Amino acid sequence: MVGTPVPIPEGHAMAHTLVPPVVTEGPALTELRLEVRAFLEDEIAAGTFVPHVDTWLTRWDREFTRELGRRGWLGMVIPTRYGGQGRTYLERFVVTEELLVVGAPVAAQWVSERQIGPSLLTYGTEEQKQAYLPGISRGEVIFGIGMSEPDSGSDLASVRTRGEKVEGGWKVTGTKVWTSGAHEADGFFALARTEPLDPAHRHRGMTQFIVDLHAPGVQIRPIVSMDGDHHFNEVHLDGVFIPDDRVLGEVGEGWRQVSSELGFERSGPERILSTFQLLAEAASAMDEGRLPSDGGLGRHVARVAALRQMSFAVSTALEAHEPADTAAAVVKVLGTTEEGDIADYVDTLTASGWVEDERLYALLQAAIIQRPGFTLRGGTNEILRGVIARGLGMR
Ligand SMILES: Cc1cc2nc3c(=O)[nH]c(=O)nc-3n(C[C@H](O)[C@H](O)[C@H](O)COP(=O)(O)OP(=O)(O)OC[C@H]3O[C@@H](n4cnc5c(N)ncnc54)[C@H](O)[C@@H]3O)c2cc1C
Repeated sequence: MVGTPVPIPEGHAMAHTLVPPVVTEGPALTELRLEVRAFLEDEIAAGTFVPHVDTWLTRWDREFTRELGRRGWLGMVIPTRYGGQGRTYLERFVVTEELLVVGAPVAAQWVSERQIGPSLLTYGTEEQKQAYLPGISRGEVIFGIGMSEPDSGSDLASVRTRGEKVEGGWKVTGTKVWTSGAHEADGFFALARTEPLDPAHRHRGMTQFIVDLHAPGVQIRPIVSMDGDHHFNEVHLDGVFIPDDRVLGEVGEGWRQVSSELGFERSGPERILSTFQLLAEAASAMDEGRLPSDGGLGRHVARVAALRQMSFAVSTALEAHEPADTAAAVVKVLGTTEEGDIADYVDTLTASGWVEDERLYALLQAAIIQRPGFTLRGGTNEILRGVIARGLGMR
């Protein structure tokens, strides 16, 4: 028997709305979506790229990224005075979703577009905005993220990279790890400790630096994945000189800045759609009789559909400058779990009745190899559950 819902008193933890209300896409957004879709269909037909899984991390194509810039599909939320498009988060959502659904090679632009641009807009000086935002919007300036260290991932406040004040700037020394794309990027934002650790206030005394990855003292060493691919790196900073004008935001405020940067990082459609190409290919294989039809397909389609509505709703909240950290964490936990579940589902399906299908097999192998990273990158699901509990006032 289904019980009558119990009214939740105002102020109770559960009275918080976990995810903003669902919104529907208007005709202007649909028109933009169809424009992007038509372009991508042409590119696939022309052989510019072969759709794949997890392309926002693993598939770099600078020329493709520049072409997106020429079409006005990068720097979408960057104001026109800084070379951007001055459009909305919802328009950006529609474009990124179309790119991810077809598994386009978008890794080169991803970090710059998603979080470096918005961070520069919030914390950058006028000179820094002028220096980097136009290039990001053209797809010509590529940044990475320099947060994690060998002994510092979830507990970022334990970073050991340190910045020492010197004449005209800072000398930064330390090691960053898991730095996606550092070997291809022009620069990264490095989080460093600039004051001694105060155990009572661990989050104080950190600073973000804009580091030129070609500067003297920077050494980038590849970390090769188990499939032989190279997208991770270890980045050693050996007394790298950072001029004062390449401090991002305020000295000592790195923690606050990084926390808001992670907000941009967590809620987007890339937290749902990394394995969508695999699901789509499995659906085609069933349709064409190459795989046995299976009721599980509908369950995954329904989950993806619900998740994308949640992610769209978070973009709507960002557009309205409403807080969305808790909602973003909910989307990321559920979305990245579903990405992995899709890999498991197709794996089980094919194991029980494997049909020769090279393309499906290649996508499945890639999804299985990338799968462990889905729930780790951008903050692990355990940590995000803590964020959700805090957002609900439960801890
Ligand atoms: C594909 C991929 C790309 C990445 N790209 C980048 C990048 O470009 N730049 C960058 O800076 N970093 C990057 N990272 C690193 C990523 O941010 C870290 O892996 C992540 O924050 C976890 O840190 P860790 O690996 O040190 O694990 P740890 O923090 O050591 O965690 C290990 C395990 O312990 C659990 N755990 C830790 N603390 C707690 C706690 N308090 N409560 C409960 N459970 C806990 C974690 O959930 C996890 O399961 C990337 C990671 C991946 C997988």
